[in-house]
Amino acid sequence: MAYETVIGLEVHAQLLTDSKIFCGCSTKFGAGPNEHTCQICLGMPGVLPVLNKKVVEFTIRMALATGCSINAYENFARKNYFYPDLPKGYQISQYAHPLAEHGHIDILLDGEKKRIGITRIHMEEDAGKLIHDERNPWSYVDFNRTGVPLIEIVSEPDMRSPEEAGEYLRRLRDILVYLEICDGNMEEGSFRCDANVSIRPKGETAFGTRTELKNMNSFRNVQRALEYEIKRQQYILESGGEVVQETRLWDDAQGQTHSMRSKEEAHDYRYFPDPDLVPIVISNEWIEGVRRALPELPLAKQDRFVEQYGIPVYDASVLTTTRALADFYEEAVKLCGKPKIVSNWVMGDLLRYLNEQKRDIRESPVSPGHVAQMINLIEDGTISGKIAKEVFEEMYKSSKMPADIVKEKGLTQITDEGAVVKAIEEAMAKNPTQLAEYRAGKEKLFAFFVGQVMKLTRGKANPQLVNDLLKKMLSGS
Ligand code: ADP
Ligand code: MG
Ligand code: ZN
Repeated sequence: MAYETVIGLEVHAQLLTDSKIFCGCSTKFGAGPNEHTCQICLGMPGVLPVLNKKVVEFTIRMALATGCSINAYENFARKNYFYPDLPKGYQISQYAHPLAEHGHIDILLDGEKKRIGITRIHMEEDAGKLIHDERNPWSYVDFNRTGVPLIEIVSEPDMRSPEEAGEYLRRLRDILVYLEICDGNMEEGSFRCDANVSIRPKGETAFGTRTELKNMNSFRNVQRALEYEIKRQQYILESGGEVVQETRLWDDAQGQTHSMRSKEEAHDYRYFPDPDLVPIVISNEWIEGVRRALPELPLAKQDRFVEQYGIPVYDASVLTTTRALADFYEEAVKLCGKPKIVSNWVMGDLLRYLNEQKRDIRESPVSPGHVAQMINLIEDGTISGKIAKEVFEEMYKSSKMPADIVKEKGLTQITDEGAVVKAIEEAMAKNPTQLAEYRAGKEKLFAFFVGQVMKLTRGKANPQLVNDLLKKMLSGS
């Protein structure tokens, strides 16, 4: 039987505020255990939380960027459960009245746009970290992360394949990073994803029973876990069984999911409004102020690049993955006015060098000014495209300007006819056999002579000129 996959994702994004959500403790990563804690985030009796306004502002940014409606009135709720990394015995979250609802994100699938619904976005606090000592029969707890602000972004079950889920996640991450509210680092856990997945016979409209997958710390692992889980569910249904609704953990080493616990229900958590925090009322002025300060978002930028610069959608999507890369590209185009050529160099040589060294575009030793000047040197005939590769490598290594590199290394293209004629004469004199064969009809040898002339001129001869002159001189005319 043919099945259809249904996927909905819950993403937790750690917000880039300086201090925690309900106290003044630092959110900086890497401090010694429990250095960033106080009575409030340790859950001492009698202390009162105070909401960090930046957290609300960041969440409004995300709500606006995803077309959500923002609730005029909202509050916090206590989600009650026991675990040693949760000192209060409850997590402060939002339940019945989240900050934002009913939005969407557009993703690109084979060049077509597809809209994925956002059910809700709410604010909550993170829990601490347990560290299990392999050699001793005890565990440690570090509360530095307790109270670090998170937003949870819940999608509608709108995705139909692991690839779609991957695409949605990448888009979502790009938006968060564009908005400068989250660093989007999945390996370090500042961007985490739980994946809900079910299957149903093709044509069926009711959803099948879903499982929830946790513990994937990379985009690749989200897709792998989903692929594994889809096969597992198919196997169960095909052998006459029933999928159990449960939470399953992804095991990266084994490439499998394992049952962790049966699915909890909302009522298990005894949600109730937190009496320590007053309801939040967000004014229209505030929302409009945040809206005015929003940056251009990735997909809008991509559309604009295609329109304004006439580059392919693929180029535009690569160049707009981060704001810094898009800015770099636009700056270079502004300086030399050759959008497609700039795109080729940035996506080709520059990104390849940067990726090899795992460097960000912001750490690039080559500036937009370098790229633009180099392209101008090609355009005005000073250097050939082939020599430009060498110049690029050198300017990446030394950050020297391309014009200086060309001058220092004597790489200026030879456009003087006399010099090229001399080189051709030399090549013909050195290779009489090949010349005879060529003249007897072995035309393939033309490329051989191009190579010889280039070698004699150390690659600097203008290729077009070499071509034209060789044609004449080889045939003896
Ligand atoms: P909970 O809070 O218990 O995890 P939700 O109703 O909030 O449950 O749903 C969580 C996620 O599961 C959402 O992203 C939703 O789109 C997705 N989801 C719900 N039903 C299904 C289903 N049958 N198959 C796949 N995903 C689903
Ligand atoms: Mg859930
Ligand atoms: Zn604190």
